[in-house]
Amino acid sequence: MSKKHILFIHTGGTISMKKHAETGGVELDGGNPIADVIEIPDVDAVYTVKEPFQIPSPHMTVNEMMTLKKLIEQTEADGVVVTHGTDTMEETAYFLDLTLSVDIPVVITGAMRSSNEIGADGLSNLIAAVKTAVSDQSANKGVLVVMNETIHSAQYVTKSHSSNLNAFQSFDAGPIGSVLKTGAHFFSTPAASETFDIGSIDFTIPLLKAYIGMDDVLIKQLSHCDGVVIEALGQGNLPPAAAQAVIQLIESGVPVVIASRCVSGIVQPVYSYEGGGRTLKEAGALFAGGLNGQKARLKLLTALSSGRKEELPYIFA
Ligand code: ASP
Repeated sequence: MSKKHILFIHTGGTISMKKHAETGGVELDGGNPIADVIEIPDVDAVYTVKEPFQIPSPHMTVNEMMTLKKLIEQTEADGVVVTHGTDTMEETAYFLDLTLSVDIPVVITGAMRSSNEIGADGLSNLIAAVKTAVSDQSANKGVLVVMNETIHSAQYVTKSHSSNLNAFQSFDAGPIGSVLKTGAHFFSTPAASETFDIGSIDFTIPLLKAYIGMDDVLIKQLSHCDGVVIEALGQGNLPPAAAQAVIQLIESGVPVVIASRCVSGIVQPVYSYEGGGRTLKEAGALFAGGLNGQKARLKLLTALSSGRKEELPYIFA
C-alpha cells in the first residue's frame, strides 16, 4: 500500500511560540519550531507543509478561516493536520465543519505550553493529530479536534480551561475517540451535520452574554446588525428589559439566536413568564440547541452567507 500523504497547515498559536528567556513572555519569534517536524515516529506517511500565516489565534478572522477552507479543498493529500492557537480553535474547527464537503480526515491541534517550556505538549499533540489523520476511520466524521490524546468532534468540543493541558472537553456528548500508541481509536461517530455552501462572509453578528439585571442598553444599539446571538440564562431565558429589547429587534427583522451561558445542556422554550424562553420563541427567536454562543454565531453566519435567511427557523429547529 502506498504511503499516506498528509498536509500540515501551520497557522501559529502557542504550539509555534517560545517563552522569552529574559521577559518570560510567550510570543512568536519569527521561526516556527513545529513546522520543522516532517517525520512522525511509527507513522508511515509523507508530508507537505504550508504556512499561510503565523498568528496568535485571537487574531484569527473569517478571512484566515476562508484561507484554510480553500487550502483544504484544493489539496490532493489523504488527510490534513492544522496547527492553531487554542483560544479560538473550536471556532475555526466548527467553521470548517460547517463549510467543508471533503471526505478526507481534517484534524486540528495546538498546544497549551509553548515549544520551549518544560513539558511542552505541542509535539505530542501533533503526533496524535497525525495518527488520527492517517486513520481511515477518521474520514467522514466532520472536522476533528485532537488535544491531550483525545479526539473530539468540532460540533461538541470547547476550550474549558484557560491553562490546563486537559483544556478541551465535549461536555454533553463526550469525546468521540482516543489516540493510543497504536493509533486512533473511536468510541462513536458524531451526529451528521448540515454543511453550508457559503458566499460572501461579510456579516456583523455580535455575541452577548446575559446577566442578572441585564437591561436594554446594549441590545437597543444592535438594529443595524445582520444577526445577534445571546448566551441567555439557563434553558434560554432573559431578564424582562433585555427580553423586551430582543423582541423589538426581532420585529425589526434582525435574527436573534438564543444559546445558554451554561457550559452544557440544550436550550429549550420552556418558561412562559416574562422573558422566559417560550415567550422569546413565540416572538420569533431562534434556539441554538446544544451549541455554545460562539458556535451558534458561526452557524448563523454561515447560514446567512449561504443566502438562507428565510430558512433560519428550520436550520435552528
Ligand atoms: N493565546 C494562544 C492562542 O490561541 C493560546 C494557545 O495557542 O494555546 O494563540
